[in-house]
Amino acid sequence: MITVNHLRKTFQTPLVQEGKFAGIRTLLSRAYKEKEAVHDVSFTIEPGEFVGYIGPNGAGKSTTIKMLTGILHPTSGEVLIHGLSPQKHRRRVVQHLGVVFGQRSQLWWDLPVKDSYEILAAMYRVDEVSARRRLGELTELLDLGEFLDTPVRKLSLGQRMRADLAAAMLHDPDILFLDEPTIGLDVVAKRNIRGFLKALNQDFGKTILLTTHDMDDIEQLCERVIVINHGQIGYDGSIAELRGKIGLPTMMKVTFRGPYQVPASWDLPFRVVEQQADMLTLACNRQELKAMDVLRVVSSWGDMDDVHMEEPEFEEVIHGVYK
Ligand code: ADP
Ligand code: MG
Repeated sequence: MITVNHLRKTFQTPLVQEGKFAGIRTLLSRAYKEKEAVHDVSFTIEPGEFVGYIGPNGAGKSTTIKMLTGILHPTSGEVLIHGLSPQKHRRRVVQHLGVVFGQRSQLWWDLPVKDSYEILAAMYRVDEVSARRRLGELTELLDLGEFLDTPVRKLSLGQRMRADLAAAMLHDPDILFLDEPTIGLDVVAKRNIRGFLKALNQDFGKTILLTTHDMDDIEQLCERVIVINHGQIGYDGSIAELRGKIGLPTMMKVTFRGPYQVPASWDLPFRVVEQQADMLTLACNRQELKAMDVLRVVSSWGDMDDVHMEEPEFEEVIHGVYK
């Protein structure tokens, strides 16, 4: 179980001086500017939950995760992982934690992937037999075989992310903190990672807290989302309820090969926003309606050529939470 009580983190950054000798005056000055990155955040996560932690850039997500893992010390408040503080009982707590920061690999850049695993296994005191068995399982689950002997710096981003996930799982932790593990990945790589995460949660019962900008990640993986904005929690609950709260339309642009005819009425709840010679713009609420169902209706209006979908911007979705 993960318990977060009134967590707060304030960063102090030196006030940048201006004018002559600005650099040296900034260094010597004692003036600081305070930035409250996390402001009074509380939640609990039960074993086996898969929770999405979302919010716009700068909201305080990474700072929260760094406090959960013990990398950063809270300004006030506390974190308890199975009743232990990651700050005070670091050694014991890290045995329970797997952590991935998508923006930064924890593997050694110039070493073959498998050498990094050896070092990590030793650091986590995983005995040789278990380490070999775990690596075998992970190699299969994450398809690592083709690049175990390759230095990390030569991996593609997708391979690197898989390698990092395996690294986080080597000591078989029961809790995973993932900070943007799908950032920058293409559709196929994302799908692979999602499949792996789903299996970890459903088949192996791992508790997962996932930060991502990808709403599809959230929709496909998480039952529950916590939304943070300006360091404060704006929503904590089910995805279904969040959908109901937001209800922003997805814009669909359908192009036709020839003329098309919009009938006076149809029996699905979507709106025609604009009609042009060969293009129709529709607005549908994907919480209520599958795109396929809309297209099934629209395909009878003319000879469809292509469909382009524009999801509401993430910022809009988050903004919708506060409406
Ligand atoms: P997120 O991960 O949600 O994008 P972060 O937790 O990284 O947000 O950052 C939250 C806020 O704290 C941002 O305004 C960021 O600039 C600031 N911040 C983060 N780390 C530091 C730091 N080490 N020193 C000063 N400010 C920081
Ligand atoms: Mg971040």
